[in-house]
Amino acid sequence: MTIETSVGSIIAETGQPYPYRRPEPVEPDWTRFPGWADVTTSEWESVQWQRAHCVKNVRQLRALWGDLVDESFYADLERDQAERATMSMLVPPQMLNTMAPHETPHGPGSLTEAIYADPVRRYMLPVFSERRTDWPSHPYATRDSLHEHDMWVAEGLTHRYPTKVLAELLSTCPQYCGHCTRMDLVGNSTPVIDKLKFLGKPVDRHAAMLDYLRRTPAVRDVVVSGGDVANMPWARLEDFLSRLLEIENIRDIRLATKALMGLPQHWLQDDVRAGVERVASTARERGVSLAIHTHVNHAASVTPLVARATKAMLDAGVRDVRNQGVLLNGVNADPHALLDLCFALLDGAQIMPYYFYMCDMIPFSEHWRVSVADAQRLQHHIMGYLPGFATPRIVCDVPFVGKRWVHQLSDYDHERGISYWTKNYRTSIEASDPDALTRTYAYYDPIHTLPAEGQQWWRRHADDPHEAASQAAAASRTAAAAQAVHA
Ligand code: SF4
Repeated sequence: MTIETSVGSIIAETGQPYPYRRPEPVEPDWTRFPGWADVTTSEWESVQWQRAHCVKNVRQLRALWGDLVDESFYADLERDQAERATMSMLVPPQMLNTMAPHETPHGPGSLTEAIYADPVRRYMLPVFSERRTDWPSHPYATRDSLHEHDMWVAEGLTHRYPTKVLAELLSTCPQYCGHCTRMDLVGNSTPVIDKLKFLGKPVDRHAAMLDYLRRTPAVRDVVVSGGDVANMPWARLEDFLSRLLEIENIRDIRLATKALMGLPQHWLQDDVRAGVERVASTARERGVSLAIHTHVNHAASVTPLVARATKAMLDAGVRDVRNQGVLLNGVNADPHALLDLCFALLDGAQIMPYYFYMCDMIPFSEHWRVSVADAQRLQHHIMGYLPGFATPRIVCDVPFVGKRWVHQLSDYDHERGISYWTKNYRTSIEASDPDALTRTYAYYDPIHTLPAEGQQWWRRHADDPHEAASQAAAASRTAAAAQAVHA
C-alpha cells in the first residue's frame, strides 16, 4: 500500500486522515504457541527464563511453533541466514510473543500467513523471499555505513558531533535486529559477515574513553551504548556511569537499550532498579540529565511489561525515556502505523517519541529502505496529531554528516535518487579540512523506487560506483547552476 492510498482510505472512513484511539497495551497470551503452553507468569517475568529461552536458530523456532507454521517458512528463514543475514538470530520470548499477537492457531500451517505478514517478524526474523532480487544491496552500501569507526577517538568511542560522543561499551545485545546499522561490529559473525572485534580489554577501553572525555571539555553529552547496555553486568555499568558522572563537563547521559522493549524483565530486576536509582540520584545532585533511549519499531511491541519497566525507570529517577525507531518498509513506513506507534509509546508507556531514523545503507537492506521523498511525505502526514514535544523527527543519517531532518537537504536528483546535504560542524576527522563545511554530501535512495530512467542509469553505472558518484554530482551541480540562472 502506498502512503497516499493508505491515507486516502482512512479519510473515507472517519473524516480525519488518522483516527486517534487511546491504545490499551496488551501482553499477548504466550500459551497460544505449543512450545510455551505450560509457561507460567512467574517464568515469563523472570529475566533468567527469558534469556534461557531466546530463539537462536531455526530448530528452536520449530520447537516453539512446530507445524503451525509451514516448513516453507523455516526453509525461507534458513536460506536467509545462510545467504543474506548480516545479523545472527537472537529473539527473546518477549519479542516473539508480539508476533501474530491475535492468532489462535488451529492446526498445521494455520499460523503461516500471519507470521509472514507480521511487522515485528519482518525485521527480527527476515526471510530470503523478502529481500530484493534486483538490487538486494545498494552499490554504495557498506558495512560501517556511518563511518563510525573512522571517527573513533578511543576504541569504540565515536566523536562525530562537536559536543557529543557515542560510547560503544560492548558489542552484544539481548536481541539482534536484522537491520542493525552496527552490523559490522555487533553480534556474532554470520556466513555473510565476519564481524569486527574490539581489540582492547573492556576495562582498558572504558578507561581510555573516560580519559578522552576528561581531556575534552567540549564534549558534554554521552550516549552510553553498544550493543545494548542491558547486556553489561549492572555493577560494571554502574561503575562506568559513576566515573562518567565525576567528569565536570558531562551534562547529559543517555543509556541506549532496546531491551527496555525486547527484554523489559531485565530493567524490572530489583538490583537493576536500585542501581538506576543510585545513579539517577547522583546525576540529579550534579545537575546531569540521565535518560534512557530505546528502540521500538511497532505499536505491537508496547506491552504492559514494557510500560511497567518504563515506569520503574522513571520512578527510579531517570529524567526521560525516549524512543528512536527505524523507518522500515513493511514494518512501520506508513502514517497510520507510525502514529499508532507514537500513541502507544506516549499514552501506553510514557515513552517519548523522539526520532525515526531512515534505515541505513548497509548490505541487503534495500527491501527495508524508503526514499527520502517518501520519508518527507511521512513526516508531513504525522504532523499535527501528537503534542509538538512528542512529534518525532524523521531523520536521515547522512554519511560523514550525521543526522539531518529529512527536509533539510540542499538538492535532490529525483531521477537518480541522490540527495545532497550540507553541514555546519566538523567531525573529528575533518579538523584541517577547509572544504568540510562547503562540500555537499550524497545519500542514495533505493534504486527500485526510482523511475525507469533512473534505474537504467544505475544499471549502466553500478559497476563503477565512483564514476557514478562523480557523474551524479556533476549532473547535480549543472542542474543547480541552471536553476540559479532561471532564478
Ligand atoms: S538492539 Fe540496536 S545495536 Fe542491538 S542489534 Fe538491534 S539495532 Fe543493533
